[in-house]
Amino acid sequence: MAGHDYDLFVIGGGSGGVRGARMAAATGAKVAIAESYRYGGTCVIRGCVPKKLLSYASHFHEDFEDAAGFGWSVPEPSFDWTRLIANKDQEIDRLEGIYEKLLKTAGVEFFHGHARLLDAHTVEVGDKSFTAETILIATGGTPTFPMEPGWEHGISSNEAFHLEALPKRVVINGGGFIAVEFAGIFNGLGSEVTQIYRGPQILRGFDDDIRNTLAGEIVKKGINLIVETTIERIEKREKDLLVHLSDGSEIECDLVMAATGRSPNVHNLGLEEVGVALAKNGAIKVDEFSKTSVDNIYAVGDVTDRINLTPVAIQEAMAFVDTVYRGTPRAMDHADVPSAVFSHPPVGTVGLTELQARERHGELDIYRSTFRPLKHTLSGRDEKTMMKLIVAKDSQRVVGVHMVGLDAPEIVQGMAVAIKAGATKQIFDATVGIHPTAAEEFVTMREPIPGDQAKAAE
Ligand code: FAD
Repeated sequence: MAGHDYDLFVIGGGSGGVRGARMAAATGAKVAIAESYRYGGTCVIRGCVPKKLLSYASHFHEDFEDAAGFGWSVPEPSFDWTRLIANKDQEIDRLEGIYEKLLKTAGVEFFHGHARLLDAHTVEVGDKSFTAETILIATGGTPTFPMEPGWEHGISSNEAFHLEALPKRVVINGGGFIAVEFAGIFNGLGSEVTQIYRGPQILRGFDDDIRNTLAGEIVKKGINLIVETTIERIEKREKDLLVHLSDGSEIECDLVMAATGRSPNVHNLGLEEVGVALAKNGAIKVDEFSKTSVDNIYAVGDVTDRINLTPVAIQEAMAFVDTVYRGTPRAMDHADVPSAVFSHPPVGTVGLTELQARERHGELDIYRSTFRPLKHTLSGRDEKTMMKLIVAKDSQRVVGVHMVGLDAPEIVQGMAVAIKAGATKQIFDATVGIHPTAAEEFVTMREPIPGDQAKAAE
């Protein structure tokens, strides 16, 4: 610590910052942390957790309908947005409290307020300043708005969690996972939803079979998906909004939400003055050990714009602690990070897409199965499950696992262990299924799709 107030000062009390602070303190380091909004960060306060609670809420109307096929008579259900939001807020408050308690128990001193660097070892929080041997920046990201006129009348995901009432007609701009998830949430809760995306298909970067299957399913559920189109202007009218599209058409709605991207939170952090190098998009540049261009300053999580997911921010923070405080330098391994989209039906994915796998491994064996899940034989719901394995032909290693369908995120989490362990198709074949499940399909797919058909699916 050599004359400093702390060994470590962490800026940002979200997924990466809190984990880094707690784990460093557990090694005996003297640690402080500052958070400008609420402890828990994006994931807990206005990301993963509230989003998934709303996603659960939005699935119930299908559950009520599906129950009929199983002999249940359900009285006409009604939905109360205010109650949902109040319950969600109560849970988020509880989690925020748990985060603060965890910090306290770990012996971390925590501050509320915006923090900025005065020099490489000095952090200012409000009217106080502190020095630290090492600084960890974990300030996350923030939603960006498109530049077209009228977006001052739109909202981002931040505000979507606090709407006073459920809007009747919603336009969602974007094709990424947040746009897709909110389209599903509003649609499931009863809003009329139009999703507008400028590219040819939603979920850019995901395997094409996931993209195409999910697009088909959400359209069947009533989402008006418009691709290769942009919003040119949003006009505020007396009682609603009029969205002008690039194809000349117009959509009347009550809410427009931008889910078109996020940018790293580096504003007013003092980084340039201290000499911390930034990428073009503002992300903090780091090496594989999450060290910035300044020797004693590290950065983890969304502010570094590597893979912007909570478990990644957490793992990066743990690798930082191993490197700096445990004497066991460790680079975070960003390969084969599994992820999910909590759409209806949901998506789970790990490893390479078919296109990436072709580039990296050349010839592939593709196994794909599309079927109606057992549950929907009685519910009568027209919803398909798609499961896909991508196998490198020469090594027979399974290099990609993709699924759209009920429970996909829960199923693919397990598959991610096999992929990380380098499992071959023979190991999948030798694994006994659990019957009757959809997951067993991953260990019972025997025949690869003939080469030309697999290519045609791209
Ligand atoms: P954050 O969690 O964003 O924490 C950064 C914290 O720093 C914030 O609390 C901020 O207030 C604070 N801060 C910023 N500047 C300062 C400053 N100068 N001084 C003090 N404090 C500061 N990820 C998943 O893995 N699964 C999901 O299902 C998922 N869903 C998401 C849904 C939505 C709507 C959004 C927006 C994100 C979602 N994510 C999801 C992404 C996930 O939330 C982020 O990857 C994760 O929170 C990143 O953690 P972090 O520690 O880098 O930053």
